[in-house]
Amino acid sequence: MTNPALDQISLTKLKGIGPALEKKFHQLGIYNVQDLLFHLPLRYEDRTRLRQIGKIRVSEQVQLQGQIVSSNIQFGRRRTLHCVVRDDTGMVSLRFFHFSATQKNSLAEGNLIRFYGEVRRGRTGMEIYHPEYKILSDFDSVPIEDSLTAIYPATEGLQQGRLRNIINQALALMEKSPNVQDHLPPALVQKMELEELTDAIRLLHKPPTDAPLRWITAGINPGQKRLAFEELLAHRLCMRRVRNDSKQQKAPQLTADDKLLSRFLKGLPFTLTNAQQLAYQEISKDLGGVCPMLRLLQGDVGSGKTVVAALTALHAISSGHQVAIMAPTEILGEQHLFNFEQWFVPLGIKVGWLSGKTKGAARAQQLHELVSGQCQLLIGTHALFQDEVVYKKLGLIIIDEQHRFGVHQRLALRDKASAGAINPHQLVMTATPIPRTLAMSAYADLDSSVINELPPGRTPVNTAIISSDRRSEVIDRIKKACCEGNQAYWVCTLIEESETLQCEAAEATALKLSKQLPQIEVGLIHGRMKPKQKLEVMTRFKESKMQLLVATTVIEVGVDVPNASLMVIENPERLGLAQLHQLRGRIGRGNIQSHCILLYQTPLSDAGKRRLAVMRGSTDGFYIAEKDLELRGPGQVLGTQQAGAMTFRVADITRDAPLLDAVKEASELILQSHDDIVDPLIRRWLRQSEHYANV
Ligand code: ADP
Ligand code: MG
Repeated sequence: MTNPALDQISLTKLKGIGPALEKKFHQLGIYNVQDLLFHLPLRYEDRTRLRQIGKIRVSEQVQLQGQIVSSNIQFGRRRTLHCVVRDDTGMVSLRFFHFSATQKNSLAEGNLIRFYGEVRRGRTGMEIYHPEYKILSDFDSVPIEDSLTAIYPATEGLQQGRLRNIINQALALMEKSPNVQDHLPPALVQKMELEELTDAIRLLHKPPTDAPLRWITAGINPGQKRLAFEELLAHRLCMRRVRNDSKQQKAPQLTADDKLLSRFLKGLPFTLTNAQQLAYQEISKDLGGVCPMLRLLQGDVGSGKTVVAALTALHAISSGHQVAIMAPTEILGEQHLFNFEQWFVPLGIKVGWLSGKTKGAARAQQLHELVSGQCQLLIGTHALFQDEVVYKKLGLIIIDEQHRFGVHQRLALRDKASAGAINPHQLVMTATPIPRTLAMSAYADLDSSVINELPPGRTPVNTAIISSDRRSEVIDRIKKACCEGNQAYWVCTLIEESETLQCEAAEATALKLSKQLPQIEVGLIHGRMKPKQKLEVMTRFKESKMQLLVATTVIEVGVDVPNASLMVIENPERLGLAQLHQLRGRIGRGNIQSHCILLYQTPLSDAGKRRLAVMRGSTDGFYIAEKDLELRGPGQVLGTQQAGAMTFRVADITRDAPLLDAVKEASELILQSHDDIVDPLIRRWLRQSEHYANV
C-alpha cells in the first residue's frame, strides 16, 4: 500500500487540530501536512540549560524553574496576572497581560513551573513578560530539551508550544513515509551540491545539538541553503511569470496635460533635482505605453520621492484617470493626504481618504465619490483595495515604502485592481537600502528608476553614541535645542511581542519627559492612537506648536518635519541598521545642522558597538546596508527577519546573495525545459496566494 502524499493529508488528521485550530493555520497559509513542513523556524532558542534565578541579568533570554509562591490579579491601568516564582537562589516575577481562566488556574500558588523568556527590570525587581511555560508535577518530570528549540512564525491564539507540537507530528509523518515531492531536476541538485529535500527540512526544524556553531551564527546550515535556493527560485519563477504576463496585458495610455504639470511645478518652493526629473521622464514614457507600467522608484530617505509620485499622479489625473496611493501605515497615509491636498486642491483636483477606520457615512460618501468618478485621487492604507471599493476609472496605483509590502501583496493588489481587460499602471516606491544588485533580483518583475542624489542644501546628520547613564545630559541638550526654536524626536524602540506594550512604554516616557522638561511642550504619537488624534499631534508638531515628539517606530517611514533637527533613539542596539537609517532620515531635512543621539543601554556587545559605529560613520543608505550584511553578529540566526527585509521564509536576500546568479540561471533552464515544475514550486513557496500560480 502506498501512503498518501503529505500535501494530500488534511490538518485535522493530526492530534489536537479541530476545525477552530485549522482556521488559525489557514491564517498562516497552512492547509495540509506538507505545508507544516515548509513553515520554517524564524530563529532558535537554546533551552538545553536551566539557569539559577539569582544569577539572571537584564535582557538575557533564560530558562528557569521554581515554585510559584504567589499568584494574583492586579488591577492597575490594565488587568495583569502577576506570579512570583522562587528557586534556591532567588525570586523573579512573571507578568501576563492576556490570560485565560485555565491559564490563571494552572498558574496557582504552590505549583512548579519551568519557563523561558527575556529578563527585564520591573517595578519589583527582575520580571519576565509572557514567558513560555510548562507546569511540572515534579522538577524532573519533563526532561530538558536536547536540541535547539525552533521558534516559528505564529499568529494570535496559536502559541509556540502548540505549534511546535503539531509541526513535530508532521515531521514524524515525514519520517515514516518521505512523501514530500522533490521538484528540482536531479541534475540541478547535483550541480548545486544541494542537500536532499527531506534532510534539509529536518536540519532546519531540528538542528542537531552537536551542529557546528557556525551553522547558526553564519547562517550556513546546509538544509537552509537547499531550501533558500528553492524558495528564491520559486519567487524568481513567479516574478518572471508576472512580468511576461504583464507584457501581454493592456493598460490605458496616459498623456499628461503639460500645462497642469508646469503649474504644479511652478507652485513648488524648489526646483526638481536632475535625478527627480530623470525618474519622472522614465515613468512618463511607461505611462504612455500600451502595457501596464511596473516600476520601482528607489531613493534613499529624503531624496524626494513624494514629489515624483505627485507628478506621476498628475500625469494620470490630467488624462482623465483616477489614482490610488497606498501607504503602509495610517500616519504615513495622513502625511501624504496633508501634502497632496496642499498641492492638488488649488489645481481643482478632488482628493479623498480611505482607511480601515473610515466608517459609516464618511465611508459611504467616499465610496460614492469613487464610483461616480468625482474623487480623482484616493489616498489611504490597504483599505483602498477591499472588495467594496470600486473605482470608476483607475489608471494608476502608487505604493509607498514598498518594503512593508511583500511580493505577495504586490501581486494580490494588481489582481484586485485590474478591471476586466484594462490593468492600471503601478509605481512602487522604496527607501529600503538594499544593495543595488540585490534589488535587481528581489524586484525582478519590476523596471527600476533610482533617485541617486539628495536635494541641495541638506546638512548631513551628525550622529553620537551615548550610554543611557548620561540620559540627563541628553535631556539638557533637548532643552537647549528646543528653547532655541528647534524641534526634536524621542524614539522608543522597545521590541515587544505586543504593540500595546510598546505604546505603553512610549506613554510612560512622554510623561516622564514632560515632567523633566516643563518649559517645552511634549507630545506623543503611537500606533494605537485614533487617526484624528494622530493627525492633531502631527499637525501641532508640523506647525511648531510642540517641540518634542515622543514616538514609537511608527515615525520610521515618511514623516517629514524639516524643522526637527534632533533625534534621540533609545535602545538603538535592538534595531537593524536599515531601520535606524530610516528613523534618522526624519531629521537633517532642513538647512540647520541636525544631531542624532543613539542612547544605548549598557553593557553593549562588541558587535553592537560596531553596528552603531557604522551609523555614526555614514549617512549613505546603500553603504549602511552593505555593512549590515557584513556585521550580522552571532545571535542573528537562520532566517532572521530584520525589519525592512524582504519577507521570505528561509531565504535572506542579503545573506543568500551568492546564490542569486545560480537562481537566475536555473530559472531560465526550468522555464525552457521543465515547465511542469513551475506551478508546484510556486504553489509550495507562495501559497498564501494560490492564484499566483495561475497568472
Ligand atoms: P522621501 O524620498 O524620503 O519620501 P520626501 O519626498 O518626503 O522624501 O522629501 C523629503 C523632503 O525634501 C520634503 O520636505 C520635500 O519637500 C523636500 N524636497 C523634495 N524634493 C526637493 C528638491 N528638489 N529640492 C528641495 N527640497 C526637496
Ligand atoms: Mg517618503
